Amino acid sequence: MQDIFALPIEELQDLFVAAGLKKFRAKQVFQWLYQKSVFDFTAMHNLSKADIAVLQEKFTVLPHSLEILREQNSSDGMTSKLLLGLPDGNSVETVLMHHDYGYSVCVSSQVGCDMHCAFCASGLKGAVRNLTAAEIVAQVYLFNERLREQGAMVSRVVVMGSGEPMLNFDSVLQALDFLHREDTCNMSYRNMTISTCGIIPGIKRLEEQGNPINLAISLHAVKNELRTALMPVNKGYPFVDVLTAAESYSKASGRQITYEYILLKGKNDSPQDAELLSNYLRYKQASVNLIPANPVPEQGFERPSKAAVERFLRILQKNRINATVRKEMGKDIDAACGQLRAKFAKEQEQK
Ligand code: SF4
Repeated sequence: MQDIFALPIEELQDLFVAAGLKKFRAKQVFQWLYQKSVFDFTAMHNLSKADIAVLQEKFTVLPHSLEILREQNSSDGMTSKLLLGLPDGNSVETVLMHHDYGYSVCVSSQVGCDMHCAFCASGLKGAVRNLTAAEIVAQVYLFNERLREQGAMVSRVVVMGSGEPMLNFDSVLQALDFLHREDTCNMSYRNMTISTCGIIPGIKRLEEQGNPINLAISLHAVKNELRTALMPVNKGYPFVDVLTAAESYSKASGRQITYEYILLKGKNDSPQDAELLSNYLRYKQASVNLIPANPVPEQGFERPSKAAVERFLRILQKNRINATVRKEMGKDIDAACGQLRAKFAKEQEQK
């Protein structure tokens, strides 16, 4: 059985013809999949029974074969998180957020992650494998299927779930290009964001591909030793060089860079840290997204007080750095990266 999800229309046409179906059926199925978010062949009403039988015999559609292992909905109804079981037995998390402007999805790019950031549950056990482009697109379409009745679709994508997207660059780009197509989500590149811990060759490749995709950098510390302790990637790609690469991308793409900064109590939340961060970002096309830490019990990190967060924010603003504190979404549902998957794995081990 071949999975046809997220294949270009031309490839679908070839497959259908080889299976003895008429070429125009490919266009019809393509529309059902990506404009109506219908993944069950039997629900595609304009297909003949005979053709449905052929399709069922020869092809699968990934979102239809994903298993929802866990689902958590925040008490305010604004955030839904799914733990998806992939056909090979692995699992990944994906999160839907409802904003004033519409729906955004935070997708994973790898099963687990090899970057071992100290505050992150996804990096606890390392990377298992890269996701395929189809597996990335499927995370968006699973939610499109749920939004279908409201006549809505996901309008923004952030590649910020588990995994380091720059280490799976080709599949991530392929997935974003697919979502950009007029006959799928028709999503603007400006509504897509790739978040990296600072893989410089990936930032350069993003610059080379030329589409105005947003870039977010997980910075989290501007003292070299501390950043290396929090994010081992800093050894290979020191953050000052990352800032230079990001600045070059900003100039080439015209996009403002977002710097993510997790505030960890007593580690990187002092007024001195805020001043130092301001010095690095002054006069840059940049904004800072402050994230009060979601504690990862295994790592012993604490969330700073509200007063400490406000103090940090005020210092950045005084220094004319565009900064906000991330709106807390889904705190009551383990929305931070990798937490649900880690919890699920632990429960399975205890069984
Ligand atoms: S924060 Fe991102 S890059 Fe770091 S371990 Fe977690 S998933 Fe990987």
